[in-house]
Amino acid sequence: MSIRRRLTEARQQLEAGLKLDGREAALEARLLLQETLIVSHAWLLTHENDRLPDDAARTFNDKLQRRLKGEPVAYIVGHREFYGLNLAVSPDTLIPRPDTETLVEAALEKIPPHQPCKVLDLGTGTGAIALAIASQRPHAELTAVDFSEGALEVATANAKQLDIRNVRFLQSDWFSNLGSETFDIIVSNPPYIAAEDLHLTQGDLRFEPMSALVSGRDGLDDIRQIIASATEHLNPGGWILLEHGHDQAATVADLLHQQHFIEISHHLDLANIERVTSGRRM
Ligand code: GLN
Repeated sequence: MSIRRRLTEARQQLEAGLKLDGREAALEARLLLQETLIVSHAWLLTHENDRLPDDAARTFNDKLQRRLKGEPVAYIVGHREFYGLNLAVSPDTLIPRPDTETLVEAALEKIPPHQPCKVLDLGTGTGAIALAIASQRPHAELTAVDFSEGALEVATANAKQLDIRNVRFLQSDWFSNLGSETFDIIVSNPPYIAAEDLHLTQGDLRFEPMSALVSGRDGLDDIRQIIASATEHLNPGGWILLEHGHDQAATVADLLHQQHFIEISHHLDLANIERVTSGRRM
């Protein structure tokens, strides 16, 4: 069977089995096949008429069956693209989302390109946010913490693989292991989903670490905790930027206001939803 024909059939299987739309199904089929053959998108495009070797066909089918059982593509192939960086991911880490690029963009606006700046990333997971910022701001000094040792292993490996050297990784439950250290910018994509949210029983979220997704009854336990201690770890005039749920922007702004943050504003994600809220320490 040709590569083209197998891709078409896989797309149809994904559309039927996972109720994906055609575009998404085609993309997923392609990513699984690229991983099977260890080739680029460009290679695949120029070899569509090649016959798919039997052993590759079997490996591809194994991956496709895993996907049809619901396992996220990123965990099957072991990596995901974020802000132009190819990042390893594992079931110890949340899969980086395009929405989180909003947080990166908003942070970059506040970090001077040619001067030192101390940036803290809380709950770094794959290291996505810290590594994206570090790659764009070579003069910035990043500290990226996570509670999970498994996540820190993935993040450290990503920094090494990408040869990004201005990030240090540290095990810490939010600020717990940072002593009295202060920063110019704090960023975080903490867990923010409410414990009873039905989305947790759907799609990729079923396979991702609960500790990276869920945060108490209203989803705001961790955000409350982070905001309560943020001032102590920010230099005067420093910024905090937090990703949050689609309906949490006003509450997060209130929480920042209560801690005397100023210049509070919201930042829109790709779907025009207020996904990030920032504030400045007086
Ligand atoms: N944005 C993710 C989602 O809704 C959740 C990530 C998080 O809780 N930080 O799928």
